[in-house]
Amino acid sequence: MRVPIIAGNWKMHKTEQEAFRLASDLKRRLANVEAVKVVICPPFTSLCSAKKAIEDSKLLLGAQNMYWEEEGAYTGEISPPMLLGAGCAYVILGHSERRSYFSETDESVNSKVKSALKFGLSPIICVGEKLEQREANKTEQIVENQVEGAFHDLDAGQAEKTVIAYEPVWAIGTGRTATPQQANEVHLYIKELLSLRFGKSCCEKINVLYGGSVKPENSTELMNMPEIDGALVGGASLDAESFERIVRSAVRS
Ligand code: PEP
Repeated sequence: MRVPIIAGNWKMHKTEQEAFRLASDLKRRLANVEAVKVVICPPFTSLCSAKKAIEDSKLLLGAQNMYWEEEGAYTGEISPPMLLGAGCAYVILGHSERRSYFSETDESVNSKVKSALKFGLSPIICVGEKLEQREANKTEQIVENQVEGAFHDLDAGQAEKTVIAYEPVWAIGTGRTATPQQANEVHLYIKELLSLRFGKSCCEKINVLYGGSVKPENSTELMNMPEIDGALVGGASLDAESFERIVRSAVRS
């Protein structure tokens, strides 16, 4: 059985000191939580202080983005070895905010996924439809294109090291959540796509997380769905108590 993953996307929040405080609080609160992988993803400038705070704990560190080159004249960018050096094990790629505000495409996401894997980072690949696409019954088509794009030229050995986050764009930061059934349907569809492409045993190793206004009030119902293998949490990951409750809701008895 897959171990659920709960990842906190702190977005553009938390200075170095604030990150240290929040990460320290989470370390204390989550010390006795077993059988859930917890990943915190602070902004680049707070990665090192968060890493210091979670030393000697099972909490894992992730980044929110990266560039695909190892080094070079790419002003303002951060490379995979830099993230590894800062202590990251994960990197969020293709978040809808990056796709819509920073013109990320399926092609750039694919280059980043390949590079993350080459350097030993686990990519958390975000996919999800916009409201008008859902209303036009295009959810499966959109998600399929994004999955195909992100996994272009990958083999099963690479695919099994990835994590997918299904995040309907209309549910991100809006307080509007997909119903557990709506989310589960799309997760199943994603797993069918991966299974066809890479085989069942590879697909069974890939966690498909749900993201979009996950809160302590709705997380238990979502985490209880058979195809939901964890969550990517934005707003509610900035509050230690809320994030702790979400993590605890993913513990399977
Ligand atoms: C996200 O940033 O990936 C996200 C799902 O945000 P929120 O939980 O705030 O909707």
